[in-house]
Amino acid sequence: MSAPTPGFVEVDPQLVRKLQEIVGRERVITNGADVDSMSKDCYWYSPVLKDRLEPRTASAVVRVHSVQELGSTLSLAYRNDVPVTVRGGATGNYGQCIPLRGGLVIDITGLDRILSVEDGVVTTEPGVRVINLERAVRAKGWELRCLPSTWVKSTVSGFVCGGSGGIGSITWGGLRDQGTIKRIKLMTMEAEPREITLEEGDTLKAYHAYGTNGVITEVQLRLAPARRWDQIIVTGPDWAAVTDFATRVARDDSIPKRLVSLLEPIFGASFKPLIRMLPAGHSIIWLEVDDAFTAALVAEARQKGLSVPNVIAHHEPKRQPMLMEYAWNHSTLWMLKNHPGHTYLQFAMGPNFAEQAALLKERFHGRIHLHFEFVRSRGPSGEIGPVMALLLPVVRYISEDDLREMIAYAGEIGIASNNPHTCYLEEAARDASFPSKAQLKQAADPKGLLNPGKMRDFPVTPPMDGALPRFL
Ligand SMILES: Cc1cc2nc3c(=O)[nH]c(=O)nc-3n(C[C@H](O)[C@H](O)[C@H](O)COP(=O)(O)OP(=O)(O)OC[C@H]3O[C@@H](n4cnc5c(N)ncnc54)[C@H](O)[C@@H]3O)c2cc1C
Repeated sequence: MSAPTPGFVEVDPQLVRKLQEIVGRERVITNGADVDSMSKDCYWYSPVLKDRLEPRTASAVVRVHSVQELGSTLSLAYRNDVPVTVRGGATGNYGQCIPLRGGLVIDITGLDRILSVEDGVVTTEPGVRVINLERAVRAKGWELRCLPSTWVKSTVSGFVCGGSGGIGSITWGGLRDQGTIKRIKLMTMEAEPREITLEEGDTLKAYHAYGTNGVITEVQLRLAPARRWDQIIVTGPDWAAVTDFATRVARDDSIPKRLVSLLEPIFGASFKPLIRMLPAGHSIIWLEVDDAFTAALVAEARQKGLSVPNVIAHHEPKRQPMLMEYAWNHSTLWMLKNHPGHTYLQFAMGPNFAEQAALLKERFHGRIHLHFEFVRSRGPSGEIGPVMALLLPVVRYISEDDLREMIAYAGEIGIASNNPHTCYLEEAARDASFPSKAQLKQAADPKGLLNPGKMRDFPVTPPMDGALPRFL
């Protein structure tokens, strides 16, 4: 186990015994190596986070299996000023579930009951893995509107508190859009924890808040009618022609679809299990479309001189290969494995995304590799907007200053950025709902013990001046 870091709060043996009384001996983990590994997520995507967060760890881990156990654990932690960081599948990329102040990690994957699937709405406990949720709702003729590419490991509350969108976002926008989150129940961090219910638009207070303002105990999501999704790989040697086809399909609202990804040829060599399907030097499109549209799309691609190396017919349940596991941040993962010394950025592009991308390539020649995901945008008042391109470029890492320069230049040419190199809520993204998140924290976590430090402007108990790491 690493040496204690500034601000580290230890869980003393007396408290460990009380925790064991709540959940049983075997579900309180104090072994240094296990606690260390249960204190980490996928923060290492960012060299900036990796340097700063590597030594950060909890003092102990508790696995809760019921809402009662959760409540008693929170109450005990509150009375003893012990910080609490909640852990789901730990696939977050921003160190979201890495404790900055030691204390307790609470693993909620034991809260894994799906409570009901009725009238296009699923009600579930927080720790259900997304894959299990998707399979359960499909068995009843429904499907999740959007899901992360990490669906095998991610929990539903981890997705709500740490994620943003993914497969399905081309139609439904982000997880926060179009009323997809119907209701959230969360538990407060107080001597007598209360359950707060947030409905509809109010759910944004807890959405993407990194578990800083309550512990989610139940989530209700609106669903979409299940479709049969074929997966199609389209490739071609000419970037412009491949981009044109991807853009046309992405923007055609008459084609029901779940995924449109566009990648430069360099990605192909990193997708080891798919290599034999991907012609060297070809740019790549992943499509997931309703199977009624497959034949026409394949014919159109071929007519435009593109190749269609594979069509993977719908299968229930989904089986390998699944293109979604080579999309979104999975594309980044495959590339990072194959290209050490690289990292990534997150850009929301304008309608002229291809020209903006060409400018980035010119300015940062040879060190920025293009991967787009097409998503449904949100209009200024939350209404459905046009389809837009997100760019998740893999970039060669030189220095923090260089990453800053890339973000600044992107801004100069009209590209908005989310910063994946910070674990602080205030610095990660532009989020109009931030003040309401902070307000909820005041009511639900008066001592600032929930994932302390992540909402960096909020006072924490005990105070920890100067102990927080700085990021980009
Ligand atoms: C390879 C890869 C691909 C990815 N692809 C996507 C993608 O397609 N779309 C996307 O949005 N993200 C993606 N991500 C990020 C991440 O996988 C998602 O955000 C995921 O849904 C997080 O779920 P989790 O259970 O792993 O959450 P965790 O990492 O365990 O937690 C995330 C945050 O939620 C908090 N939290 C968890 N449960 C609760 C609870 N019950 N109450 C309060 N707080 C809670 C944690 O404290 C933490 O702050 C990807 C990451 C990787 C590594």
